[in-house]
Amino acid sequence: MFGECHAHVLMNGTNYRQAVLQHREKPDEAAVRACLEKYQEAEVHFVRDGGDPYGVSKLAARLAPEYGIDYRTPIFAVHKNGHYGSIVGRGFDNLKEFHQRVVEAKKEGADFIKIMTTGLLDFRDHGKVTGTPLDAEEVREMVHIAHEEGFAVMSHTNGVYGVKAAIEAGVDSLEHGNYMDEEAISMLADSHTVWVPTLVTVRNLIGAGRFEDAVLRPIIRQAEKMVSLAYQKKAKVAVGSDAGAYMVPHGTAVRQEYEAFCQILGNTTEVKDWLYSGEQEIRERFRRK
Ligand SMILES: [Zn+2]
Repeated sequence: MFGECHAHVLMNGTNYRQAVLQHREKPDEAAVRACLEKYQEAEVHFVRDGGDPYGVSKLAARLAPEYGIDYRTPIFAVHKNGHYGSIVGRGFDNLKEFHQRVVEAKKEGADFIKIMTTGLLDFRDHGKVTGTPLDAEEVREMVHIAHEEGFAVMSHTNGVYGVKAAIEAGVDSLEHGNYMDEEAISMLADSHTVWVPTLVTVRNLIGAGRFEDAVLRPIIRQAEKMVSLAYQKKAKVAVGSDAGAYMVPHGTAVRQEYEAFCQILGNTTEVKDWLYSGEQEIRERFRRK
């Protein structure tokens, strides 16, 4: 089975607020163990977390070997204060503070650095991403600082401007990447960045009632087009579901994400090998040096 290249052990796939209440005072070990068991049952032996502010992924990293899981964590994600990202990590105001966050992550045992460079999909306004993206120059400096400290960088990024800025900055993986265009995919293919499109975060919302399907379908179609282009151009792409997000279950979402690729590109050995090689890149780079 594929590994899970994007998960949040903190979140439970159903109720974010409840998950926070459960872990806020102190990470709930029973819940973390139950989550790791789901990966074990699904025969998923590699999990890369996207971080949380409560130390849940830090605890998961300590327990994961008991479940035969190679688990990698950034401990927390790093966002610029006033921009999206506080739900998964710690903030900074300037690059000096960003560097301090990187040093903190290192002290706490991070395997890599997770950064937030843009907001989320805006489901009320097709084609738009919430908030303002970080400036390309700032993203470049952030990635440089993290690399200098010996870390690979996982970047939460949506929208054409943000995606191009992240790729140019040399991020090691690009998470979500909704609303790219053909030029962005060409840049991706010419770079060392691995794209983790987290397709099921939108696909699993169909019929769930939270958003209208008519709003979701164009986003899904657009992602399908970009995934097909990425495959044609042989960009690096890996399977990661954002497990823990609403309607995205731990363990089994890995298969759902893989099946989404098969639906788009065909269920072939070429597709499987292509995705395995993307995962291999992530496994090699996102480890403590
Ligand atoms: Zn995530």
